Amino acid sequence: MDITTIVALRAFQDNYIWCLRRGRAAVVVDPGDAGPVLDYLAGEALQLEAILTTHHHADHVGGNARLLSKYNVPVFGPAREKIPGVTQTLREGDAIEVPGIGANFRVMDVPGHTAGHIAYHGEGVLFCGDTLFSCGCGRLFEGTAAQMYSSLSKFAALPGSTLVYCAHEYTLSNLRFARAADPANAALDEREAAARAALAAGNPSLPSTIQSELAANPFLRTSQPALVESVSRHAGRTLTEAVEVFATLRRWKDGF
Ligand SMILES: [Zn+2]
Repeated sequence: MDITTIVALRAFQDNYIWCLRRGRAAVVVDPGDAGPVLDYLAGEALQLEAILTTHHHADHVGGNARLLSKYNVPVFGPAREKIPGVTQTLREGDAIEVPGIGANFRVMDVPGHTAGHIAYHGEGVLFCGDTLFSCGCGRLFEGTAAQMYSSLSKFAALPGSTLVYCAHEYTLSNLRFARAADPANAALDEREAAARAALAAGNPSLPSTIQSELAANPFLRTSQPALVESVSRHAGRTLTEAVEVFATLRRWKDGF
């Protein structure tokens, strides 16, 4: 991998705009706000080379127009959603070489949070937008529970060492729910200690890893007997199908 650094640029309440750097080149993922990106590029004397987009929500694309007014760069985005300034529409299996930084990513269709949501995987990293969060997952605004379950299953099959760059700082609030849903899971202690240490030092609790999420994220653990039992108890009936466990867990969290 030639990306030397991936930096978190904070936006709004808890969004992260991930900035990939190589030399003087920079690429941003989901710039919902142009301000923090322009400030960072100016402060570091970097040149924007491309914008990657995972889905159409304003807090992920709201900065595109202003960035494009200053930098004439390609905008990669999902084929099935309307993305401001998009120049390269992408779908499952597409391979891209990101200009300026020499990174190669493969596109994954991951519907559920939105209908056309995509993720970028390659170089040992995953940009998953609002599909997967550390110890949680995105809300189902446009897709079905079955679609989200399938999307998360694709992530679960990636190498355990894959670094997971989520788009929001939700780890601690997700851990509160994870403790309610999966109370006997000792991996939650380790994840919480790591997240608290990172945040106390002024850093994001991210990236996570697929391995860590498989251990701690209840939404990736819907086949684990302890979780099936806990979700069944919450539902007041015995759940057997993993998708049903997932759907019930998601509804539980929506009202948590
Ligand atoms: Zn979103």
